[in-house]
Amino acid sequence: MRQMLILGGGTAGTIMANRLTAALDKSEWQITVVDATDKHYYQPGFLFVPFGTYRLDQIVKPRQRFIPGRVNLIIAGIECISPDKKFVLLSDGRSLPYDCLIVATGAEIHPEQIEGMLDDEWGKSKFDFYTPTGADLLERFLKSWQGGRLVVSIAEMPIKCPVAPLEFLFLADDYFTRRGIRNKVDLHLVTPLSGAFTKATCNRVLSTFLERKGITVTPDFGLARVDNQERKLVAWDESEVPYDLLVSIPTNMGDPAIARSGMGNELNLVPTNKHTLKAEGLDDIFVLGDATNIPASKAGSVTHFQSEILARNILEHVAGRPACASYDGHANCFIESGFGKGLLIDFNYEIEPLTGKFPLPVLGPFTLLGESTMNHLGKMAFRWVYWNILLRGIDMPIGPEMSMSGKQVPE
Ligand SMILES: Cc1cc2nc3c(=O)[nH]c(=O)nc-3n(C[C@H](O)[C@H](O)[C@H](O)COP(=O)(O)OP(=O)(O)OC[C@H]3O[C@@H](n4cnc5c(N)ncnc54)[C@H](O)[C@@H]3O)c2cc1C
Repeated sequence: MRQMLILGGGTAGTIMANRLTAALDKSEWQITVVDATDKHYYQPGFLFVPFGTYRLDQIVKPRQRFIPGRVNLIIAGIECISPDKKFVLLSDGRSLPYDCLIVATGAEIHPEQIEGMLDDEWGKSKFDFYTPTGADLLERFLKSWQGGRLVVSIAEMPIKCPVAPLEFLFLADDYFTRRGIRNKVDLHLVTPLSGAFTKATCNRVLSTFLERKGITVTPDFGLARVDNQERKLVAWDESEVPYDLLVSIPTNMGDPAIARSGMGNELNLVPTNKHTLKAEGLDDIFVLGDATNIPASKAGSVTHFQSEILARNILEHVAGRPACASYDGHANCFIESGFGKGLLIDFNYEIEPLTGKFPLPVLGPFTLLGESTMNHLGKMAFRWVYWNILLRGIDMPIGPEMSMSGKQVPE
């Protein structure tokens, strides 16, 4: 039997296990997935936990449920990969040989990378919402918080779901308004970017939203450390931003196993060809999802688009032909804007988010780069889509390549 080994059973690993089960001959290929835990979290749901919209138990399911029966799921830590000898060493000492390897180990937050972030105040006046524990602790804190200066701080890019910090602020505006204490809360975004978002047109639209909602932005802030005595963020140029409550998006990094394998960049992300999704300079290894260093958004929807391309390339590769299907950087993100509304953006490596309707020209029903109730409903429906369509590797009505139909270039 030839061995198809998938490292990580999160969004990317699960989609690929499903796609390859359908595509690879059962009598020829053994497919194995390795993951450290048996719980699969719907990570986009973390955004809603601090505001009490979801509880943690509503966004987690057993990992096994989404892995096809034919696939061997191993719950164990991954110690390191040996690309030369083509095997993976697990933390329990087992060694797994492979003919083809898919790295889908994702990215996680690393608050310890920022001086002063991880101290006694972590979980008391400084929180994250990118982990189940962080989101849960923040929910408990916010419930009884009586107001002050709430600062959402992005330490450095790239981060998972680059719009999530903005969504957090929009939802906070909504949440404190409902609680009747919005006038006692100052909302701030502190970002290393020169604006609210990475893409210029989208930045313009989102900046208008932030301004309208009374949310201040401090751009170009290179976070150096947290001063816990004075409760302030300090930048490399010594500029400062004070806070009463800090919601941090710390440095996002690939898994330490990537560093132990000598396969990562300075953020433990694997250098990957941005079109073919093949690991640069390594034979028989492909990379998918947040684990790559490609300049696409780190998002589940992106991973799903990538997976269609990757499945084609893997089938070509194992048949001894060149992997030439090309991922165009297509990303599609709903942005919760609060008060039952949302935005939608659709873009790729070359084309910035455009206005128009999606997925059908004129009919939509979703509005691109504009706010609508339907966009909010789309965001809330994404949880169902995630468990029932996306993870199962079922093709969506929209293909992986970005389509220009129904879109207009904004003025
Ligand atoms: C707050 C938040 C909001 C988000 N909102 C959205 C959204 O609205 N829309 C959207 O599309 N995306 C969103 N995302 C991003 C989306 O969740 C990720 O991009 C997606 O999950 C990436 O999939 P992945 O498989 O690459 O990584 P993951 O799903 O994180 O999977 C990686 C897996 O690898 C395993 N693993 C890693 N290292 C090891 C090891 N050494 N040993 C064993 N196992 C290991 C982990 O246990 C994990 O299960 C959001 C993310 C967050 C945090």
